[in-house]
Amino acid sequence: MTLHETVAAIVAHIATIEDRGTVASYIPELAKVEADRFGMAIVTADGETFIGGDADASFSIQSVSKVFALTLALGKIGDQLWERVGREPSGNAFNSIVQLEQERGIPRNPFINAGAIVVADVNLGGHQPRVAIGEMLRFLHYLAGDDAIAINEAVAASETSTGFRNLALANYMRAFDNVRHPVDLVLGTYFHQCAIEMSCRQLALAGRYLMLDGRHPDGGRVVSAARARRINALMLTCGHYDASGDFAFRVGIPGKSGVGGGILAIVPGRASIAVWSPGLNENGNSKLGTVALEELARHTGWSVFSPPD
Ligand code: GLU
Repeated sequence: MTLHETVAAIVAHIATIEDRGTVASYIPELAKVEADRFGMAIVTADGETFIGGDADASFSIQSVSKVFALTLALGKIGDQLWERVGREPSGNAFNSIVQLEQERGIPRNPFINAGAIVVADVNLGGHQPRVAIGEMLRFLHYLAGDDAIAINEAVAASETSTGFRNLALANYMRAFDNVRHPVDLVLGTYFHQCAIEMSCRQLALAGRYLMLDGRHPDGGRVVSAARARRINALMLTCGHYDASGDFAFRVGIPGKSGVGGGILAIVPGRASIAVWSPGLNENGNSKLGTVALEELARHTGWSVFSPPD
């Protein structure tokens, strides 16, 4: 089967599945999305793009933004980041506060909410949130080669008015001096980064540097090869909250999910993939997005645990 046929077969199969999971409603604005949407985009290392379903529909990237925010924060303070955030899977829900108390305000990894809030604090770097957000958007425009990527202000406002748990996490870490700017500025940055909207095609394009050992396809270097490998390692071990082990078991590809139903998955040296289906499973990861990636890995042999061709 060609990759084009594989994508078509996955889209056709997904359309037959009735149980599509549950669309996130704790951010009220996200609940408005129709559950039957599904999109998929694959960009290969040689620059070909394969798309299926609603691949050009914009969705809220939510926690997928944590990958790009981490990349920016590492660019600013390098390995010093690891004094403030760990690199271990959490084994807890994405918004858990329990572990943070036991571990004295140092979040387990940059992909749980607490870790991403510390990363947002680093990216704020003494500026106003609009500066940090502007930087993030410019970074995504460069990575995807698409200046149309923008923030959905209604989603940002919706989360700002309901994000009490994130407020608690940020205040808690401020008490440990692991959040250093005023909490409202840090969360303003974090909520707006989560409210960025992208399509599967834009997201797969933006992820190319992670499949290309840190290089932009234009030849520029986004991050060092070692850093790209480490970000991929974190995606594999921590990218799906407390279902990261199950995702590695079923799919075997580094991936980062968001409660908007998107997943960015990276097959080093081969492909940058984005899938979107807004219904979530019990762990808050896209139910059918995971199924689609599982099928893709099976058809292509693209597990990172497979020997190269
Ligand atoms: N903005 C969401 C939150 O902080 C992101 C969660 C997610 O996508 O997993 O609750």
